[in-house]
Amino acid sequence: MDYADNILGTIGSTPLVKMNVLTRDLPCLVLAKYETFNPGNSVKDRMAVQMIDDAEAQGKLKPGGTIIEGTSGNTGMGLALVAAVRGYKMICVISDKQSKEKIDILRGMGSEVYVCPTDVAPDDPRSYYSTARRLSEEIPNSWYVNQYDNLSNTKAHFLTTGPEIWEQTDGKVTHFVVGVGTGGTISGVGRYLKSKNPDIKIWGVDTYGSVFKKYHETGIFDENEIYPYITEGIGEDILPKNVDFDIIDGFTKVTDKDAAVYTRRLAREEGMFLGNSAGAAIKGVLQLKEHFGKDDVVVVLFHDHGSRYVGKIFNDEWMKKQGFLE
Ligand code: PMP
Repeated sequence: MDYADNILGTIGSTPLVKMNVLTRDLPCLVLAKYETFNPGNSVKDRMAVQMIDDAEAQGKLKPGGTIIEGTSGNTGMGLALVAAVRGYKMICVISDKQSKEKIDILRGMGSEVYVCPTDVAPDDPRSYYSTARRLSEEIPNSWYVNQYDNLSNTKAHFLTTGPEIWEQTDGKVTHFVVGVGTGGTISGVGRYLKSKNPDIKIWGVDTYGSVFKKYHETGIFDENEIYPYITEGIGEDILPKNVDFDIIDGFTKVTDKDAAVYTRRLAREEGMFLGNSAGAAIKGVLQLKEHFGKDDVVVVLFHDHGSRYVGKIFNDEWMKKQGFLE
């Protein structure tokens, strides 16, 4: 018989799928690392289980404990899966920009959810960073995950996602393109791929309203780069420890409108029903066209599933209200 011991045994080993339509004008092969095949429907299951494994091994998380995280949803889903299987309580602290579906899903998974305002500074006591930290100080036998600075996040991708991409492409991958939030995906995959072949180029996809691109190019943390934006999952107003700027060759920024429009195009033209950051990622690939040659193999990673965006990206009224649909 062939079965997993529990649902956590199904995390990883996701497929690589050829892009056929949106990338038609590119000279190279473009392959999508399709992370919605994870049991929580996102790449974040990988780092959730790694962070919890490491916290248990280090004695930071004890039996019956409470896991607390400030999360935009996918990490919360991954953590909630592990918490359910291993008998922990789960508290997610989330910003009010996130889709209602994501909040409902977390509650459905048995997590307690606190909703905090988005447009306050990270050090404001009302921010989700501050609220998560405060709860972890108040609740006994609790552990604050901190996916931004917890390096088990990058480690998960170094140990699993990176090797999978290397093996699935028979070592032929030449470029890796991915949206950057905490930085765990780009840093772990990028570090692994460069350890196999230092010529592989690693590109980050950033949003307007986020600090990454300017910081990478100038070394300056420019507060003028920070303003509210709509794209979910990527871009930051802080520099997480998981972003390893040294292994990143460059960033490209994608607008909110393009990210939304291309998320829809992925569904309708490729049959790929994916989240907002997948639209940003594929538009990022198209923006980088001049960097690719005919023998190149470009891998783009799609983080999460479209079901979490049915009230937004896949809703015409919402799209019109944002000015994203004519
Ligand atoms: N896309 C989505 C939908 C996400 O939830 C995240 C995680 N914030 C990312 C992209 C970025 O991934 P990472 O945190 O590994 O940089």
